[in-house]
Amino acid sequence: MFSHTNLSDVPEKAKGSYILILHVKEDLKVRIGRLGLQYISKGYYAYVGSAQGKPPQNLKGRLRRHVSKEKKAKWHIDYLTLRKGVTPVKAIIVFAENIEHDLSKILEKTGQKPTIKGFGATDCKAGCHSHLYKIHSIDDATRKILSSLRRRNLSFVVVNL
Ligand SMILES: [Zn+2]
Repeated sequence: MFSHTNLSDVPEKAKGSYILILHVKEDLKVRIGRLGLQYISKGYYAYVGSAQGKPPQNLKGRLRRHVSKEKKAKWHIDYLTLRKGVTPVKAIIVFAENIEHDLSKILEKTGQKPTIKGFGATDCKAGCHSHLYKIHSIDDATRKILSSLRRRNLSFVVVNL
């Protein structure tokens, strides 16, 4: 049992962690800050993040930032979302604090493929190789992720972007 919603309906107060699903429409060569020039093959990706602060560091503000092309690259993910061929498709937001790395482990356990070492994970103490995963099938990945969240009794919402 879960619900779908739109970004405008996400409450301002909502904080938590999230899995952002991105569509990379063409093969890309992109410089990702200090990680340097990286090759990103086209397909779907899942990125794990958290937004625990006051606006714009709340979930709504963070997701708006991911969708926007009007920003200066600050985080690794920005270098990707700034590209024309990259579109955020949806986000699974989870209303729990500090579970970013658990979400990363869920992605790993459901068979998603970790990508660039250290991506979004430079301060990760949980030993994640990366917080960016390539997913083979968006439907299959979503189903597995949601059932894993349900088994853990985590409260979540799927946001269409
Ligand atoms: Zn991590």
